[in-house]
Amino acid sequence: MSDGGATLGSIRRMAARRLAAALSSDDTPALDARLLIAAAVGLDADRLVLADYRAVTPAEAAVIERYLERRIAGEPVARIIGAKEFWGLPFVLAPETLVPRPDTETLVEAVLAYFDRRGGRERPFTLVDIGTGTGAILISLLTELPSTVGIGVDLSEGAARQARDNAEALGVADRSLFIKGLWGLAAGQADVIVSNPPYIVSSIIETLDATVKDHDPRLALDGGPDGLDAYRAIIADLDRIMAPGGAAFLEIGYDQAATVAALLAEGGFEAMVHRDLAGHDRVLEISRVSD
Ligand code: GLN
Repeated sequence: MSDGGATLGSIRRMAARRLAAALSSDDTPALDARLLIAAAVGLDADRLVLADYRAVTPAEAAVIERYLERRIAGEPVARIIGAKEFWGLPFVLAPETLVPRPDTETLVEAVLAYFDRRGGRERPFTLVDIGTGTGAILISLLTELPSTVGIGVDLSEGAARQARDNAEALGVADRSLFIKGLWGLAAGQADVIVSNPPYIVSSIIETLDATVKDHDPRLALDGGPDGLDAYRAIIADLDRIMAPGGAAFLEIGYDQAATVAALLAEGGFEAMVHRDLAGHDRVLEISRVSD
């Protein structure tokens, strides 16, 4: 790395080879190398190849080397660069926020389809995001739904603060409010409720990939002894906060659709399943049986 003649292209290829040798077969070494190097030198990752012949300074080479070592030690790219793209938008992470997952875009799509069926994307609805984290779900929806306002709540103060910063950076701060604590919501306030709550069974967290178990916050993953604690808490308050005729969209683990739907049925709600791109059950779309 101390070679004064190194270019971004030569460093990128070397980095991809090193990551390929060090990571497991379902990782993405070439993409990781591109994202890490782009962040280290302050260029857009999509345009990095256009700068392949640019020389790399010793200071940049040192930053790239540190990033590669962290990735090889099991840290995910998103934590190293402190950001993750979701719904085509850049979300800044905090230690208290889950890294937004591509599967969760299924939830955004389901909500947009709901608006399309219910009179269009100009409907002036209030959205509530429970456990907002980076704000990825709520902020993505606010950018697509120009007449909505959003409230994001999170048990973590750091997450609520980060979501507010992301809303500011992405131009929706004037239509959103982020608060710490889950139950500060008024009765009948939410036309559309969204949530990606913690749903991993406590006892299996230690078996998850290091990029998740060592770097995502436990509060955002741990769903309790059967993985359903957060759903029970949300369902217990759902009838109070949901406006008449409202809907809720909950992300679920691939094997949780039937059990969460049964909890919902006890509370007087019916649920429809949406699948993710891998074909797994991923989102429940919920309405009152009586509506
Ligand atoms: N889908 C996340 C994972 O891959 C879990 C997020 C959650 O519990 N909501 O670990």
